[in-house]
Amino acid sequence: MRVSFHTLGCKVNQYETQALEQLFAARGHMLVPFEGEADVYIINSCTVTAVSDKKSRQAVRQVRKRAPNAVVALCGCYPQTHPGDVEGLPVDIVAGTGDRVKFVELAEQVWMERQPITALDNALKRRIFEPLPAGGLEGRTRAMLKVEDGCVNFCTYCIIPYARGPVRSLPLADAAAQAAGLAAEGYKELVLTGIEISSWGHDLRDGTSLIDLVEAVCAAAPDCRVRLGSLEPRTITEEFCQRAAKLDNLCPHFHLSMQSGCDATLKRMNRKYDTARFFESVGLLWKHFQNPVPAITTDMIVGFPGETDEEFEESLDFIHRCAFAAMHIFPYSRRPGTPAASMPGQVPKAVKEERARRAAEAAARMERRYLEQWDKVEVLFEEERDGLWRGHTTRYSEVRVRSGENLHNQLRRVQVTGVGEGYLEGEIILEKQ
Ligand code: SF4
Repeated sequence: MRVSFHTLGCKVNQYETQALEQLFAARGHMLVPFEGEADVYIINSCTVTAVSDKKSRQAVRQVRKRAPNAVVALCGCYPQTHPGDVEGLPVDIVAGTGDRVKFVELAEQVWMERQPITALDNALKRRIFEPLPAGGLEGRTRAMLKVEDGCVNFCTYCIIPYARGPVRSLPLADAAAQAAGLAAEGYKELVLTGIEISSWGHDLRDGTSLIDLVEAVCAAAPDCRVRLGSLEPRTITEEFCQRAAKLDNLCPHFHLSMQSGCDATLKRMNRKYDTARFFESVGLLWKHFQNPVPAITTDMIVGFPGETDEEFEESLDFIHRCAFAAMHIFPYSRRPGTPAASMPGQVPKAVKEERARRAAEAAARMERRYLEQWDKVEVLFEEERDGLWRGHTTRYSEVRVRSGENLHNQLRRVQVTGVGEGYLEGEIILEKQ
């Protein structure tokens, strides 16, 4: 079969597509670009917002139109949470976020027998982590390593717990083995990813927690940088920081999911911390990662239902106190099926957009101030575009240099020469032989 993928959504979805590609390839199937001709087209969907649902449906209709006789499969979070919505779509296979390995057989069966199949389980009943092949296709420098699935936090704006089920963790020894395997394949950076990695280990009931996993992965791949995916503030404790600061190959970049800088808003979001606890986490990272500073990045939702002008101003003040290295700003998107969607005080679109503009302006100022402090940095180069090689520092700052060398997957020291819009400009430091 010629198989092609179109993936929407988060790192976990991207990871699962990469894993499925490897499984199809391992069974002798050919991977082809989604724009090209294929026998099986797979849309790995997202449902984080109503817009992602719409994009998933559009992708199905577009491919069906140009490939009327091919097998079209819709899998992932959208059908998992909205089985009724997808019934009318012109697809041959409907599958969810579970049993990814079995999905390969389903595709082969439908291709041969041409009988449509729907394979959806109840995500909330899942208990075991489904291990999938790690890494990615050729030519990648950074490999994602999925170590956790599911979430039980039930933030009021989020549908993911219904799409992904309860917390399931990849056992520590398996994670260490996968990390060593990826290092042996030549990856220079591993990103520990999951739906909510701060909950890693909760289901294992053996007293282990995320820091145990991080230590094991860093030890298993000592020549790789290890980067953490998005974290919840509760993870950042004195003990976590003391142990993490001893890990030479752990990137001092912490994406701490904030969402709001106002306690009243955090309460309506059902987030599990207040601004004092969040700021304590920031303080602990500054205290333990002082060589020179950590990169603390975050996500912020503006215009959450009930957010008054005063609450928004409070949030704005708070983000300045945290001096983030970078921020992702999201105007609240009403997601049917979540408690927040029916909350009173829905904020008008224009107000949301104005708040997003002001928060983004503040974020850009903080980011520039953060970037301006760098003199020499070590960069893992990934790709060349328009004659410029691009890569990232351990603190996830993007760096661009002009060079005639092939810098792909190279770790090189760079002399910073300037600051662009969200990135550093520099020159390769020629090391004395
Ligand atoms: S922590 Fe909250 S926002 Fe994140 S996946 Fe879980 S429920 Fe969704």
